[in-house]
Order: sequence, then C-alpha cells, then structure tokens
Amino acid sequence: MKAIGSVALVVLLAASSGAQAATTALKFGKLWDGRRTIPNAVVIVVDDKIQSVAANGAIPAGAAVIDLTRYTGMPGMIDAHTHMSFFWDPASGTNPLRQPPRPVAQTVTFAAANARRTLEAGVTTVRDLTGFDGADMQMRDAINRGAMVGPRMFVSGVGLRDNVIKNSPAEAGRLAKAVLDGGADWVKVYGSTGRANDLTGEATVSYDEMKSIVDTAHAMGRKVAIHSYGPNAARDAVRAGADTVEHATDMDDATIAEMARKRIWYIPTINHNQHYLERADTYQFSESDRANFRDYIARNVETARKAFRAGVRILPGSDAVFTAFGTNMEELRWLKRIGMSNEQALQSATVLPAEMLGMERSIGAVAPGYFADIAAVEGDPLADIEVAITKVRWVMKAGAVVVDRR
Ligand SMILES: [Zn+2]
Repeated sequence: MKAIGSVALVVLLAASSGAQAATTALKFGKLWDGRRTIPNAVVIVVDDKIQSVAANGAIPAGAAVIDLTRYTGMPGMIDAHTHMSFFWDPASGTNPLRQPPRPVAQTVTFAAANARRTLEAGVTTVRDLTGFDGADMQMRDAINRGAMVGPRMFVSGVGLRDNVIKNSPAEAGRLAKAVLDGGADWVKVYGSTGRANDLTGEATVSYDEMKSIVDTAHAMGRKVAIHSYGPNAARDAVRAGADTVEHATDMDDATIAEMARKRIWYIPTINHNQHYLERADTYQFSESDRANFRDYIARNVETARKAFRAGVRILPGSDAVFTAFGTNMEELRWLKRIGMSNEQALQSATVLPAEMLGMERSIGAVAPGYFADIAAVEGDPLADIEVAITKVRWVMKAGAVVVDRR
C-alpha cells in the first residue's frame, strides 16, 4: 500500500465503494407496494435494498435511471410451494415422471432453467418442498452466492415419510432434527399418500409422529409444512400445530375452524392438478386419471372456498414440477375463484407469504429497507389478476435486473 499515494488511495476507495453503493432510480407509472398504490412512483435502490419510495420522488445525482413509466410496479412474488430441482428436458422424449437417473450435479445445473423461468413469472422467492440428494440446497446456495440466477429459495431437503419414520414418534423428531442440521430451512412431512396421478390421500404419518416433528422443529426455531392430499392427515397436522398445510382436500369444518384459530397457513395448490390435466399427453395420464384430476380439483376448490370463508389464510403455491416453471402464479386464478379480491390475491403472493416465511421485514413489499425484489407488469393487476400471471415484463431481484422483456 505504501506505493500508492494518498490521492490514488482515495480514488481507489471511492471507486470500490462506488462499485458497492450502486444507486438506481426506478420510475413507475404507478406502484402497488403491497398495501397501497402510489402514482408516478420513484423507487431508489442502493445496492440490494430499497432506500426510498415516493410519488414524484427526487432522483439523486449520479443514479442510473430505469424508465418503467409504461408499467405498474409491484413486489416480486413468492411461490409458497415448488420443486425447483425437478427438471425435465422436452427433447429427451421421456415421460417427466419416469426419467432415467442423472447425477445430482447435472440436475442442479440443468434446473437453472427452472429457476430462470420462475423469475420470468415475477417470482423472486420460493419455498421449495422436496429436493433429492441435496439438489435443492445446492440451488439455494448457488443462487445466494450469485453462481446461478434464480429466486431466493427456502428449502426442505427430502420430505419425511412413513417409510423412514417407522411408526416411531421419537424417530420422527430425530429425523426432523437431522433434516435441519443437514442444512434445510424447513421440515416437509408427507402426512398422506398422494402425488402425480395418485390422488388417494390416505394418512400415513400419525398425530404423535407429526407432533414430535413439529415440537422438535419449533424448539429449533424452524417451521414445518405437512402434505396431506386428504382430510385425515390434514386434521392431525392442524392439531399438531404444523405451520402450513399443503393440498388438503375435503377438510372438515372443525379442522378448518381450528386452522383459522391457530393461524395455520393453507396452500391448496389447486392449479397443480389443472397443470397435469392440461399436459396429460406429456405425462401419459389415462382417461381415468383425467377424470380423477377433475374430481380432485373440484373438491380442492370447494375446500379452499370453505377455508377462505372461515378466515384461513391461503397462499398460492404452484407445486411446480418439470413443465410448470413460468406458470407459477396461475394459482391466483383459483384464489380469485374461491372469493379473493384482486388485492387479496396479490397480497397472498407478496406480503402474506413473506410473513409465512418469517421474512415480513425484508421481502414481499416495496418499502425502504426491504430487498429490492420488484416486478414491472403491463397493465393494472388490481383491475385484472391476469396481469400478474402473464404480463410480467421486467424483474429486479436484490437490486439486480434479472428479467427484461420490455
Ligand atoms: Zn409438492
């Protein structure tokens, strides 16, 4: 350092701090910040965070200006249930559900395409509920260090099932601890059967086992998501104090009431089966499979409608696998159908899932001090929810522009 004169050193420091403190001004025709609409909004972003949000706000000297006045700004959305590492190549000629095994490194590398498509849907955060061989954790870590472009991920690793729990509450708790010690952010439990074209929903994990898992995770300051395709495992999950219940068709009124009282989040993932139905040829589903999907969707919608009326907090989760990345927010159509207003649907994709994740002070809103996770959409999503589903044109994540289709 002695070789560098004081003036040169100052310049060097200024240059390096300049590189770190990049200031960007975003100009929106209007902005929905998660709670209210601000006309002619100017959002000042410094590094990865939002510094200020104001109507006709001043633009600091030297700021890079991005003109988005043609668009509506909104918080980057949060998909509450994905499987980001479930990759399929359409050119492979395989059935996505029956692919030959591939090395996990290849899965992670290829699944970057899923991550990118998810960002293109305006989704800047996901909760990912099952990845194999650590693929989900590898994606999360690669994204966090900038080695992969994708949404921030909260992951569960491999979900716990009855075949590893082996009818033992003590073992269930031990497994939950092992999952979290192994680097997972959440614990996922498969409380019932049900996946792909198996829509049976028979309970497989007991109340005592669920309770042991929930108590163990909560003692570690972590949360638990319980998968139940049918009503019985959902009832036990709610009794056991799960943080979120996934899918859960045909829940009884008492369970729904308890869910509302305990403020347990419900992620019905209705569009997941609609997606399978629309791509039944790709997945080689039979005619009876298709009929089963239609029947399941109808019951799923009805359960979600009852839960919404009862005051249960409902979040959009795509349950995206293989072919569904980029369609992540189609679930908002179903949330409208069960009775949400456009603004309620938008909040279910932004401020509310941020709270579910315990991140309500840093994501899910366009507000000072929050990560600069922002989407620009063409049209007004408060007037037409399709705008948030299919008209995302530009996305910033943590201050970096990651999608630009203007
Ligand atoms: Zn799932």
